[in-house]
Amino acid sequence: MVLKWILAVVFLVLGVSASAARKPGLSYQFQCSPKVDQWLCDRQIAVVRKIVERQNAHLPAGWVWLLVSDSEWPALQQRYRLKHDYAFSHLGERRTVFNSLLFQQFDRPVWEWAIAHESAHVTCDLIDEDATEEVAHELASTGFMSFEKSCAKFTNEALSHGEKKSP
Ligand SMILES: [Zn+2]
Repeated sequence: MVLKWILAVVFLVLGVSASAARKPGLSYQFQCSPKVDQWLCDRQIAVVRKIVERQNAHLPAGWVWLLVSDSEWPALQQRYRLKHDYAFSHLGERRTVFNSLLFQQFDRPVWEWAIAHESAHVTCDLIDEDATEEVAHELASTGFMSFEKSCAKFTNEALSHGEKKSP
């Protein structure tokens, strides 16, 4: 009985340290809505995870990267008053949502740009679309050296231009 308990605890500890070692510093959740086919979900989540890890943005711990089906997008668009068709980030709900169609209708450069753009919104705490775009461009041109550096540059610039963080 005691041995069983000890084994269970050891197993738990090993499990935690193994997953921590695999993704140091990243504690994001990658999910699909039930409306996305499992095979498509697996494939697209693998793509998102790889790009997110390569770009090395420091989003809040537990941040959710969610893929939804295109059929769900109109309801989301209405609910959040979205102007875009493929991606949005919600700072309060701590999640970035992608329309699965993004990964079917476009190629890798667009996926990378979309993920950099959404990461810039969150990491730099930017709502302004132009400033966010500038950060994403800066990041891509420097090979994703540092979100912090790029954020600082453009948030300072935006502040000095007197821009407000408004939707
Ligand atoms: Zn945006």
